[in-house]
Amino acid sequence: MKSADRSVWNVLVAVPATMRQILVRGALSGGRPANGCQISCHGSGIEADWAFPTIMKPVLLIGAGGVGSVVAHKCAMLPEVFGPITLASRTLSKCDAIAAQVKQRCGRELATAQVDADDVRQTAALIRSTGAKLLINVALPYQDLTLMDACLEAGCDYLDTANYEPKDVAKFEYSWQWDYQDRFVQAGLCAVLGSGFDPGVTNVFTAWALKHQFDEIHTLDIIDVNGGNHGKAFATNFNPEINIREVTAPCRHFEDGAFVESAAMSCHQAFTCPEEVGSYEIYRMYHEELESLVKHIPTLRRAQFWMSFSPNYLKHLEVLQNVGMTRIDPVMFQGHEIVPLQFLKALLPDPGELGQSTKGKTCIGNVITGLKDGQPKAVYIYNICDHEACFAEVGSQAISYTTGVPAMLGAKQILAGGWRQPGVWNIEQLDPDAFMADLQVHGLPWQCRELTPAQAANFQVA
Ligand code: NDP
Repeated sequence: MKSADRSVWNVLVAVPATMRQILVRGALSGGRPANGCQISCHGSGIEADWAFPTIMKPVLLIGAGGVGSVVAHKCAMLPEVFGPITLASRTLSKCDAIAAQVKQRCGRELATAQVDADDVRQTAALIRSTGAKLLINVALPYQDLTLMDACLEAGCDYLDTANYEPKDVAKFEYSWQWDYQDRFVQAGLCAVLGSGFDPGVTNVFTAWALKHQFDEIHTLDIIDVNGGNHGKAFATNFNPEINIREVTAPCRHFEDGAFVESAAMSCHQAFTCPEEVGSYEIYRMYHEELESLVKHIPTLRRAQFWMSFSPNYLKHLEVLQNVGMTRIDPVMFQGHEIVPLQFLKALLPDPGELGQSTKGKTCIGNVITGLKDGQPKAVYIYNICDHEACFAEVGSQAISYTTGVPAMLGAKQILAGGWRQPGVWNIEQLDPDAFMADLQVHGLPWQCRELTPAQAANFQVA
């Protein structure tokens, strides 16, 4: 983005989204050329000479699940940023169903396409035919590398919400994607990794805290509470296969310069959320953002991730594990090979369908301690999101919503130019300010509270 465009964009992001749409649509309908428009919005305090920001670029969204639906809606709501949108996935009918909902709620047409994202040539051909400048990957972590390859082949920027995981090993780490650094730099393309909520917003919270609240960060505790109730006996909030692989893996946390392994779900404690969201038992587990955060914030002495689980969820999970239903190796069943966890996914409720019945709130945030001006300091930065409000806005529950909104906002930062630099980036490496401002106005408002050291040590944030 040219510097003139960027300054215009800074003006635009500082005003509410609806006003921005009026400003941009007004400029367009005035029939002026794309550059050099004069904006004067009386009574708003905004008067600016500006060059129209050249960011209405075609985007390709891959994945038509719970998260894909939210990203499609939220991108469609920002026509001044997202040009023609193509929604593609393995099952075309799911893309068409989402496109119909987007048309109904937002009045905007999306193109749809069928694609096998494991096939690099097929995906590259789709990128070329849509003219996409950015591919938003909200398929599954298994597709990350093939989609990055397709972006390199077709000359397109890339963004995802989860790091690569091989199908046959329950292991996720960034090394596979970090290995693309030189290829993306040489191609002059940008890849932003992990732009969901966690990873995603939690990384940006940490980067923002380092920029504005601390001189040095020492400890980080990411606490992810889902206080929602979907009324089902057992269901996962996002893709069941990915979710169960994640929560059954051994726990790892970072302490004194190294990752320390412990048994899954073996460390837990009570946590009371602010704003009367409630009290929950939170369990320490490994989560992918710990790997990139300890690399990029080397002053971190301890980094942990905690997630709430209900006794009911844990009881079902234990039984499923004990009977072998969470296995990811193929077994023979009536002459066919099946993977038990994939079979279980087929039986469980579709997370994309849970919005209708889910009530309650999520509360996800970071307790951070460190030094400011030589003094110990602690803060808690968090967002609270209401399942029913998400459903009313885009027809999805809050887990899909809290992932889909940051994916849209990360994409917006790339298209607007603020985050667009050649290479492969974890989100905490990029400037947090515009993203943090956008969270406040695009559905995920956050708060930052100062804690005493004792409160931080005990996670007393309520
Ligand atoms: P879903 O299972 O609901 O959706 C995944 C979509 O990807 C489906 O439409 C599926 O197609 C499609 N897909 C799978 N394989 C292929 C393929 N080979 N080619 C084309 N399309 C394919 O998952 P969610 O929407 O719940 O999650 C999406 C992503 O978001 C996941 O990577 C998940 O890990 C991530 N996530 C990140 C979070 C964060 O905070 N960072 C939180 C929650 C999720 P089909 O319908 O045919 O199966």
